[in-house]
Amino acid sequence: MIKLYFKKSFPSLTVEASFNFVKGFNVILGPSGCGKTTTLRVMCGLLRPERGYMLCCEEVFMDLEKGIFLPPQKRRLGVVFQEHNLFPHMTVKENIEFALKKAQKREFTAEELLERFNLKGYENKYPHELSGGQKQRVAVIRALAYNPRAFLMDEPFSSLDFRTKVEVMDFVKSVQFGRPVVIITHDPFEALYVGERFFLMDKGKVVAEGGKEIVREYVNLKKIREVLS
Ligand code: ADP
Ligand code: MG
Repeated sequence: MIKLYFKKSFPSLTVEASFNFVKGFNVILGPSGCGKTTTLRVMCGLLRPERGYMLCCEEVFMDLEKGIFLPPQKRRLGVVFQEHNLFPHMTVKENIEFALKKAQKREFTAEELLERFNLKGYENKYPHELSGGQKQRVAVIRALAYNPRAFLMDEPFSSLDFRTKVEVMDFVKSVQFGRPVVIITHDPFEALYVGERFFLMDKGKVVAEGGKEIVREYVNLKKIREVLS
């Protein structure tokens, strides 16, 4: 449902990769500095590569040969980062209502969303009054409220302690996104816990893709690096 190819050169690394993401949980896995966030920024429309093509749910988001590069607001993607996802000056409810206003068609109210995802009672709290896990759950709900074509999450569990991480991962797995979800991580445990389809990146390239066996390849890759360094 998402086809992506791009090439982006930085002084220290060229990232050139192609992906086919389908409905469900796609995980991009790879060591720090391999080009994962670059991939996400290209998908969002925040970074324009030298070459690139992206098709999302039958719409062309990018075709640089034809000069097509949709800005982020025209792509309608639900994005969750590691932290700082919520507007600090807005309450939980206002954060979600902000997204609902931007949604093309509203399927829910903020109250319904908060109730459905067990966050009733938190409506009037500000982000700084929430725990890390609660903030990430609200961020996922807010992404859902946009009614996006797809969900992109960059290290969404990285800042959480182990117990909270498992809770938030369970939460993410319990949401029926019904659209492609692309989750970036450098952590093999997180990848195995949430992933269905895996893309292993190294030094700016996709070096393997497939099922859970890819995570084993990644662990070996890390091990070899450790032995060599
Ligand atoms: P990852 O998310 O996998 O850790 P990134 O995609 O953020 O990696 O970055 C990969 C590499 O690309 C970095 O190590 C750096 O060399 C280069 N890079 C990324 N963004 C920039 C930038 N804005 N300016 C220069 N180099 C960059
Ligand atoms: Mg990154």
